[in-house]
Amino acid sequence: MDLTWTDDEQAFRNECRAWLEANVPSSPLPSGDTAEGFALHVEWEKRLFADRWSVVSWPEEYGGRGASLWQWLIFEEEYYRAGAPQRVTQNGIFLLAPTIFEFGTQEQKDTYLPRMAAAEDLWCQGWSEPDAGSDLAGITSRAVRDEKHGGWRLTGQKTWTTRGAFCTHLFGLFRTEPDAERHRGMSYVMVPLDADGVTVRGVDRLDGDEGFAEVFFEDAFVPEANILGEVDQGWSVAMATTSSERGLTLRSPGRFMAASQRLVDLYQRRGAQADPSLRDDVVQAWMDAEAYQLYTLRDVTDVVEGRPLGARSSLNKLWWSELDVRLHEAALGLLGPYAELEDGAPAAIDGGSWMKGYQFSLSGPIYAGTNEIQRNIVAERVLGLPRK
Ligand SMILES: Cc1cc2nc3c(=O)[nH]c(=O)nc-3n(C[C@H](O)[C@H](O)[C@H](O)COP(=O)(O)OP(=O)(O)OC[C@H]3O[C@@H](n4cnc5c(N)ncnc54)[C@H](O)[C@@H]3O)c2cc1C
Repeated sequence: MDLTWTDDEQAFRNECRAWLEANVPSSPLPSGDTAEGFALHVEWEKRLFADRWSVVSWPEEYGGRGASLWQWLIFEEEYYRAGAPQRVTQNGIFLLAPTIFEFGTQEQKDTYLPRMAAAEDLWCQGWSEPDAGSDLAGITSRAVRDEKHGGWRLTGQKTWTTRGAFCTHLFGLFRTEPDAERHRGMSYVMVPLDADGVTVRGVDRLDGDEGFAEVFFEDAFVPEANILGEVDQGWSVAMATTSSERGLTLRSPGRFMAASQRLVDLYQRRGAQADPSLRDDVVQAWMDAEAYQLYTLRDVTDVVEGRPLGARSSLNKLWWSELDVRLHEAALGLLGPYAELEDGAPAAIDGGSWMKGYQFSLSGPIYAGTNEIQRNIVAERVLGLPRK
């Protein structure tokens, strides 16, 4: 592996850095998991799009720069280094889009990708149901063919839909062949949330943000063109999406490198008042973030050379989610009682962001497939151990 950046890559880094330095809002936007914050984040996304920074690795005809995977990694490093806003478009651009590139028809690419890049269509993910989380193959939401109108009728309920209350579209799995084996007979459907028969109800999280929604389908119609991939083959299409979610794209190393650097800065500001033993936790978090970056360079090499990550993406997910919790625990240790002060409290340090980040980090081992499930996948499909 060659760990040096080429002159072109360095020039790309400089260009990203200069744009971000000139454009990132000087104070943090309100949480993108509230109605007000989400709207401000969408404005930010449109600004990124206007200067072709919203989807750098996509082809130019869809709004990107045709950047290589290496350049995408560089962009991500610079994005988080600059403290730029969270990507409220992430479920579309990082999860659905790679799946459309792989399985979509030309018409689907032309219809969905440019609007997604421009933050005109905002996508949420409809996998989980009240009785199907880890056991995704247990979904019961159905799509029944409507021959007369040339499409499908959806019924059922999705839950834990991140930012569903603010999005315009949902992608999800629906059962199209109820008598088929559990992992067969499902289709991957793209649904406009303003369709008749779709009801979206926001759900507050424990931290007070309306970060989730429940989505109900009562005979909602979608045309045939809204099925991604083959009818009844939704499971394999969905597995491509989960590979993006657990692997490279959703949580790139830049995010954790920036957070671990902020932790080191916090230590330098607070260390003298904190228990000296906390220094080891800070150093460990920093090393873990570096290790994730190096591991990712290997992943990218594999992908670029045509070796897909497959089940190995579960290893990434275990690493980044557990690293994030440890990193925030180290910060709370450094802050001591100040950790409990929220944004707006006069003595809050860094706007109370460490506590907010800690609370969110606790969900990392749950979303994108729980870590218990990832360990099962690693055991069986990476290490080849028996199921029992
Ligand atoms: C912040 C956040 C955002 C989310 N966003 C979305 C979203 O946008 N769209 C969406 O569809 N879903 C979303 N989810 C839901 C998430 O995918 C599910 O919570 C997750 O898959 C677990 O499902 P469950 O909650 O039903 O728990 P369960 O599946 O009931 O699991 C409960 C516990 O049992 C364990 N367990 C279950 N089966 C096994 C097994 N075979 N072996 C070992 N242990 C097992 C699990 O690991 C877990 O600890 C989100 C969740 C969170 C926390």
